Amino acid sequence: MPETAQEVLRMIQDEDIKIIDLKFIDLPGIWQHFSIYRSELDEDSFTDGVPFDGSSIRGWKSINESDMMMVPDPTTAWIDPFMKEKTLSMICSIKEPRTGEFYDRDPRTITQKAIDYLISSGIGDTAFFGPEAEFFVFDDVRFDQTYNKGFYYVDSIEGRWNSGREEAGGNLGYKPRYKEGYFPAPPTDTLQDMRTEMLLTMAECGVPIEKHHHEVASGGQGELGFRFATMVKAADYLMTYKYVIKNVAKKYGRTVTFMPKPIFNDNGSGMHVHQSIWKDGQPLFWGEGGYANLSDMARHYIGGLLKHAPAVLAFSNPSTNSYKRLVPGFEAPVNLVYSQGNRSASVRIPLTGTNPKAKRLEFRCPDATCNPYLAFAAMLCAGIDGIKNKIEPQEPLDVDIYDLSPEELNKIPSTPSSLESALEALENDHQFLIDGGVFTQEFIYNWIEYKLDNEVNPLRLRPHPYEFALYYDA
Ligand code: GLU
Ligand code: MG
Ligand code: MG
Repeated sequence: MPETAQEVLRMIQDEDIKIIDLKFIDLPGIWQHFSIYRSELDEDSFTDGVPFDGSSIRGWKSINESDMMMVPDPTTAWIDPFMKEKTLSMICSIKEPRTGEFYDRDPRTITQKAIDYLISSGIGDTAFFGPEAEFFVFDDVRFDQTYNKGFYYVDSIEGRWNSGREEAGGNLGYKPRYKEGYFPAPPTDTLQDMRTEMLLTMAECGVPIEKHHHEVASGGQGELGFRFATMVKAADYLMTYKYVIKNVAKKYGRTVTFMPKPIFNDNGSGMHVHQSIWKDGQPLFWGEGGYANLSDMARHYIGGLLKHAPAVLAFSNPSTNSYKRLVPGFEAPVNLVYSQGNRSASVRIPLTGTNPKAKRLEFRCPDATCNPYLAFAAMLCAGIDGIKNKIEPQEPLDVDIYDLSPEELNKIPSTPSSLESALEALENDHQFLIDGGVFTQEFIYNWIEYKLDNEVNPLRLRPHPYEFALYYDA
């Protein structure tokens, strides 16, 4: 894979590439792209950027100041396996042509600023992040014509099977039993070949692949694994991950959703995020003898993450559907505590033996509807705030919460129950995001307004199918 602008330009010649596809990340975290003929790309493009009209991009500029520049990152160049003509893909950050500065609403720029903050704080020079995004494969999803009135259905063999599976009982043929998708071999696992193709295609796109498997839900839930990386790289990999998974599924005539809770009463899809801080090549989260061999720094990082979690969730769990996943009984976290083993704890410390380099924490709340650049930046800011202010998390919770008395349970804070309440938490608690110059106040208010106007309120205004079950004859 190329590393520099010169290497990319040479690759374009050597590989006879015709088209350069420039991709960037919009506010909600979706790739937007446009393509240029190869002669339009030169060395200056990598510093000054390639001009485009940013006026119609969700959550960005108004029409009177629409000119923006896309600055491709040469280390993200790969030949796009889904395009007919030889096309080189690159991920871009955004610059404003007037000032020549990186744009403060560009999510990728915000992640870079979070790393700059980590360095300027003196705490560390590298944050490693490893996201694990789960997803469902469905045959198809159709919205019927009354969609705008609030009706929808998922047209999926496996989804339909699922919705009846508990009652079905008996012989399920080769279908995984309820909550037994993790992980019988084929023919019960029907998605092996598709996941293998997804994984190998990801490798062609420069993602350091590790593994893939079926997940717990019986209806075609899966997960692929790639190696942790520095923060911007990890977010870039995640974007490539979603792109490859969706496009390979499309080749098989299937669709993929990263929606956190597509099926009622079955496991949802999370995106646990492993994280650790390093300095001068040394890991800083290992502290022999402490709880789970965590250093004071790691514990304070956890303290910050848990304290600010309700606000962080406005970025890491930013869909109305996110909160349908954060309920007890499905391996998703509901308690804002940390623990070595407990999967209902928001922060889990994986058992990693005695290698200090492997010591990390796993934040289990996030899901893949997030914009990973914003979510990672918000988590790191919360952790830095914890370290700076030596915030102690409450005692680790290793017992099964079902064994606790009501008084003990009352002391355990829970995750917010809706996007609206996470946004409210963000409104009341965002200084830690602004402190290091990572987010601007304006960006945060814009985010809250965007989410309320485009997601929370439109959903609130629509009668829900389940309301008919509840109230039709009332
Ligand atoms: N699907 C679970 C979640 O919603 C996680 C299962 C696992 O631990 O991999 O977070
Ligand atoms: Mg998993
Ligand atoms: Mg995990």
